[in-house]
Order: sequence, then structure tokens, then C-alpha cells
Amino acid sequence: MPGPLKTEAIVLRSLRFGEADRILHVYTPRRGRMGAIAKGVRRARSRFGGRLEPFFRLELMLHEGRSELLTVTGAQTIDGFARLRDDAAALDSAARACDAVARLFDTNEPHPDVYNLLCNELALLDADVTRADHANQLAFRLKLLLAAGLAPQLASCASCGERDHLSGFSGAAGGVVCPACEAGSFPLDEAAHEFLSGALGRPLAETPPASERALRQAERAIADTVEHHAGVRLREAVAR
Ligand SMILES: [Zn+2]
Repeated sequence: MPGPLKTEAIVLRSLRFGEADRILHVYTPRRGRMGAIAKGVRRARSRFGGRLEPFFRLELMLHEGRSELLTVTGAQTIDGFARLRDDAAALDSAARACDAVARLFDTNEPHPDVYNLLCNELALLDADVTRADHANQLAFRLKLLLAAGLAPQLASCASCGERDHLSGFSGAAGGVVCPACEAGSFPLDEAAHEFLSGALGRPLAETPPASERALRQAERAIADTVEHHAGVRLREAVAR
């Protein structure tokens, strides 16, 4: 539908284009991932100011023409998350969270829950930059999997339904597995299993702590699930 479009959006990426323009990759509640061009934005007197930068939550006015790229005609800041921008770890976490959304939800299919989750994650990092840790990033990814319909099966063996001795994880099976079904799985400690269940079942702000060993196993479980079922590779969850 050509014409004007007003939408909330989070800026996922902002790329220089030509002399003075920017190409934005944004995530929106009703139109998923969209691309837009902001013309003249890098000129000193641009009416957009500095708000077309990554992680800004904006109210965007766009013009939709025949091109896949919409044109930004107006932008108001809803939240600039200024505090997280002053902290290297929080900034890195925000970038990885946006990157995970961009890779897992790469289309214009609407996922308002994913939009709300990303807003929530950025607000949490902004309110307390010490939240920017491995556990938080993995909990965020687990909730993305849930929104994508890919949440791992954790209560019983993903292959046969057995409820005891769930000591492995199989991305192909889509969850924890028992010893009889362990082909293609890797060993998952009880602590990692508990973290996955706890993080999936609780709000992002109440992510349970876990040892680095458990978090590494949880990260592998998430990565294997995403690779097998969405054909997507996520960046590492933390800088190493
Ligand atoms: Zn089994």
C-alpha cells in the first residue's frame, strides 16, 4: 500500500549511504523488520538530529513507495536509552540482542511480542547496566525462541518422552534427551538444564544466575536448536 505510514520502531542498524544519507534497519511491532532511507540525515542541520542511531526507540513517519526501502519523513524519540550508551558491556549486549532479532526475525511478518521483548531488554540494560551479562543475553535468546515457536523441550525427552535421566541435549530433537536417545546430542549438566527451564519460565528481569560452565552449555543448546530448526547462526552471546 503506497502512502504514509506511522509506526513505532527500534533501530537495529544504521548505515552511512552516499553523501549525507543513512539506511536504517528497524524492527516494528506490526511490520516486523523493515528497511528505510533517511535523506540528508548526516548534514549538520538535519531535522532528525542524532536519533536515527542503533537502539533508539522511535515513533517514525515513513513514506512507502514502490521500492522495498521506505523513506523516513519524521522521527520522534520515545527512548534513547542514554545510560546504556555510556557503558561498553551494556552497549555490546544491546548490539547482540538487536543482532539476534535481526537474524531470527528477518521478515516483515508481525511479531509484536518480539518488539515488546526487545524494548524490555533495552530498558532493563538502561536501568541497570550491570545486567549486561551472559545469563541475561541467553534468557533473551530463549524468549526469542519461544516467540519463534522453537522453545526447546525441557520437561521430558524430546525423542521418546522419558521423564528421568535427561542428561543430554539434541538440537535436532529440539530439547533434552535421555541416554537411549542420545545419538547426536551433547552432555547437558543439571545446572544448565535448570538454567534453561528457569530463564524460559521467568520474566527477563528475574533471570536466574548460573555458573559459566552451565551458561556455555545453555548457549550451545540454544545455538544448536536455532541452527537445526531455523537454519540461522547466531553470534556468540558474549564477547570472548
Ligand atoms: Zn528418549
